[in-house]
Amino acid sequence: MPADCGIDEAAAVLRAGGLVAFPTETVYGLGANALDPNAAARIFEAKARPSFDPLISHLADAADLPALVGAVPPAVAALADRFWPGPLTLIVDRPAAIPPIVTSGLDTMAVRVPDEPSARALIAAAGVPVAAPSANRFGQLSPTRAEHVVAGLGGAVDVVLDGGPTRCGIESTIVDARGERPVVLRLGALPVEALVEAVGPVEVRQGSSGRPVAPGTLAAHYAPRTPLRLDAVGAHDGGRRGFLAFREPPADGDWAAVEVLSPSGDLTAAAARLFDALHRLDAAGVTEIVAEAVPDAGVGRAVNDRLRRAAATWH
Ligand code: AMP
Ligand code: MG
Repeated sequence: MPADCGIDEAAAVLRAGGLVAFPTETVYGLGANALDPNAAARIFEAKARPSFDPLISHLADAADLPALVGAVPPAVAALADRFWPGPLTLIVDRPAAIPPIVTSGLDTMAVRVPDEPSARALIAAAGVPVAAPSANRFGQLSPTRAEHVVAGLGGAVDVVLDGGPTRCGIESTIVDARGERPVVLRLGALPVEALVEAVGPVEVRQGSSGRPVAPGTLAAHYAPRTPLRLDAVGAHDGGRRGFLAFREPPADGDWAAVEVLSPSGDLTAAAARLFDALHRLDAAGVTEIVAEAVPDAGVGRAVNDRLRRAAATWH
């Protein structure tokens, strides 16, 4: 793994069918050439990701979308216009150029333009759309630092670009705006309120991201290795416990490790710290993590969604 690898060298690795982990404004992505089925297959292998879970493709510029997929429904184009570059993934029809392995056989594809200049420079230099799910093993905590990527995927990746901690710290919001009313398939860094302000009422479809997958499969996700409980008042297994707090440390209880997401109660800051704090609690040698839900508004809804899924892994 070349430590001092630059963007051009990383782009050449992508063009040659290799895997490049790179920072976006949401989390670190594990990128491969989305036009190359063998390269895409390496993503599934490196992450141990089930083949039924489709990838998001990343473009350098919103203007590249019609070039890739042809005509775009007006509501989709309007959202791209308003929120790209940014943490919004849109569903469009899969063009023939994108091999079915990228979309897990679906006739739709998920696509976005990241709001991180180095990511866009990498994609532009590669000259191809870049399929990139989060750069972690399937189901585990998402990576918000290059160190998380190296610890989780290590030798399975050809290049890891280090851009420091990611700004949003939580995955993109996924929206299917092809129908009459936009449907949110996954809560994420772009708050539902911002969507509503831009396009009017939206439907939020909770659960797995709208994919016809085995029931409950994706309900358990984003999980630390340590069992996590959400809002578990009084629950105690007698071991060393860690606490994930929103604004302030718990007043009582015997906690071996405590992480506070945002002393000022800022939900955006809390989202940015969420996975980093969980990575630290996971490494703290505790037998259980108790997490406190955050206010269920704005990006707080996505934070609570991640915490619920992490907790679902252990119940
Ligand atoms: P990740 O990039 O690992 O955070 O996960 C990508 C998410 O995008 C998964 O939850 C997929 O189910 C979702 N996704 C990708 N393609 C599609 C699609 N065509 N339709 C609906 N959801 C999709
Ligand atoms: Mg992921």
